[in-house]
Amino acid sequence: MLKLEDLTKSFEATTVLDNISLDLESGETTVILGPSGSGKSTLLRCLNLLETPQSGTLFIEGDLVEFGGKLTDEQVRTIRKHSAMVFQSFNLFPHYTALQNVALAPVLNGKMNKKDANKLASDLLDKVGLGAKKDSYPDNLSGGQQQRVAIARALAVSPDYLLFDEPTSALDPELEAEVIGVLIDLAREKRSLVVVTHNMAFAQKVADRIVFLEGGHVLYNGRPEGFFSSTNERIRRFLNIFE
Ligand code: ADP
Ligand code: MG
Repeated sequence: MLKLEDLTKSFEATTVLDNISLDLESGETTVILGPSGSGKSTLLRCLNLLETPQSGTLFIEGDLVEFGGKLTDEQVRTIRKHSAMVFQSFNLFPHYTALQNVALAPVLNGKMNKKDANKLASDLLDKVGLGAKKDSYPDNLSGGQQQRVAIARALAVSPDYLLFDEPTSALDPELEAEVIGVLIDLAREKRSLVVVTHNMAFAQKVADRIVFLEGGHVLYNGRPEGFFSSTNERIRRFLNIFE
């Protein structure tokens, strides 16, 4: 499981996450919702230490880190190995094929030889529906295909948690549906997913848990049914945008 306690993150004088505590069960899909600037990306980035919180604790699958001072490289490595992030802007290496993009990390982190990594990458590209595109370069793939390569690349390091930061917001609706389809498959396999998205259909149908952030505070944390039927004035105002 993943547990945050009293996590605080600020950028200079601005507190972006204010004493956040959260428990996420493994095998569940958590959807993080909230208006722009509410701290969703920062929260996700704190989970794999792309940002370092000023205080609080993070417990993830048996490893604990207490924030306050400077973290050691060893602490960062230990926490980071539990998760992989998929960004809005796919961030593939343009001079590598789809297969090479996916096979790279397991070789670089010393977990696999090149042959095994290529076999894994090939299987993962099949899994995300890109069996026919293994030798294509990112420039020759649609945005939805590139994002599916990025998902395969995240899966290649066998993370406990997959973190998605608005994975479909750069895509038009048809391509968004392809990527959401892959997320639904992963959720059905009981992968542990933490997804920042504005796709309310996904949140409503697939999430086990909704976390709603506003101004660095958790305004809701619980089952989707309770969120979508909430009478909280701020949550209703947020949901009305999508109706
Ligand atoms: P969201 O993803 O919900 O839109 P973010 O986590 O990106 O929100 O940002 C939350 C707040 O933190 C915003 O006010 C943003 O301007 C600020 N912020 C995010 N990253 C930085 C940074 N590196 N330096 C300074 N301020 C930042
Ligand atoms: Mg964001």
